[in-house]
Amino acid sequence: MANSINDSYQDFPILDQKVNGERLAYLDNAATAQKPQQVIDSLVHFYEHDNANVHRGVHTLAERATEQYEAARTKVQHFINAKNHNEIIFTKGCTDGLNLVAATYGEQNIHEGDEIVITIMEHHSNLIPWQQLAIKKHATLKYIELTPEGTLDMEDAKRKITDRTKIVSVAHASNVLGTVNPLKELAKIAHEHGAVIVGDGAQSVPHMPVDVQDLDVDFYAFSGHKMMSPTGIGVLYGKADLLRAMPPYQYGGEMINTVHRDETTFADIPFKFEAGTQNIAGAIALGTAVDYLEEIGMENVEKKEQEIVDYVLPKLEALPYITVYGPQDPAQHTGVIAFNMDNLHPHDVATALDAEGVAVRAGHHCAQPLMEALGVSATTRASFYFYNSKKDADQLINAIKATKEFFNGGTI
Ligand code: PMP
Repeated sequence: MANSINDSYQDFPILDQKVNGERLAYLDNAATAQKPQQVIDSLVHFYEHDNANVHRGVHTLAERATEQYEAARTKVQHFINAKNHNEIIFTKGCTDGLNLVAATYGEQNIHEGDEIVITIMEHHSNLIPWQQLAIKKHATLKYIELTPEGTLDMEDAKRKITDRTKIVSVAHASNVLGTVNPLKELAKIAHEHGAVIVGDGAQSVPHMPVDVQDLDVDFYAFSGHKMMSPTGIGVLYGKADLLRAMPPYQYGGEMINTVHRDETTFADIPFKFEAGTQNIAGAIALGTAVDYLEEIGMENVEKKEQEIVDYVLPKLEALPYITVYGPQDPAQHTGVIAFNMDNLHPHDVATALDAEGVAVRAGHHCAQPLMEALGVSATTRASFYFYNSKKDADQLINAIKATKEFFNGGTI
């Protein structure tokens, strides 16, 4: 492992390449993060030495696989400070976890006339499941709006969350605005009204210390691939008493106690929610990613990203042809920075930046209602992780300047 966080890029083989003849500056971490050699090795090691299905077998490989799979669950438990390992359910990803809660807890507890409260900055994964549930149940879906600074309007939150509210579901950190929402405060408000709160941790767990007991969230979902593990593995945390009271999400092997012709009894949590063969290697590799992040320290991850934001955000904002969305104050901004260049479509900007070796994303970022609220159809988004450096930030700024010059000399 690299000696310091500033050398950590050395652990990521993919970063050591040229793209379009230029040094790669990978700034699309909000979409998916790169994988360190340690995580890649752990995947390969599993398939070379220990591959077997978990829980069912008594042979040595099955025992080894089971041991590693359950050890990964315990690592995740400690990483987010859940009370018990049985509150950690392995899922396909954040989307899967949020759908699970809507399809089980939501299905059971939402009735006609109830209210579900989300925010206008939600990713579609934390919007459509609630929207469709509300339609099906004749419930009302309410949106907490933004302040002019691009943060969540907490006065509006206090207005929108009422005694009719049964579920509040909120992104801990926005995948567009770079805002961190006051989840703990929202949990308190939700609980005062007898509602449960769901946290979407896709953009927070990889980037900052998260303590689900301190936040007092009832459910919390995130994806492994945004924190350096493979795709197809994620986590849903839920408080044990809530999980136990919920019906299963899917039916099949692994999630039962006994099955008879006309009835089935289900396994205890977490297995009740892990029907069928899971992404065993993915879960084990997620455990390795957790080890890696703990070795660096999540405080240091957060600090390093903040240093980069402190450096790059004022430089971006100083360019007269750039509009940055979300808080202007770097201290309130995560490493996710969405912006537009005057008179240029975000896709053209992203293509031009790619020619300079800078990988960014352009589009609506699966947040169309937010785009509507911002009055744009799309943005370009640069998103940093701890293995990025000021060099990457400089490459972004220089590429933006080159793009401006190119288009000024050309079509606009
Ligand atoms: N919520 C947020 C805030 C996200 O950024 C994302 C991923 N872009 C998701 C949910 C969905 O994650 P996944 O596609 O990994 O399920």
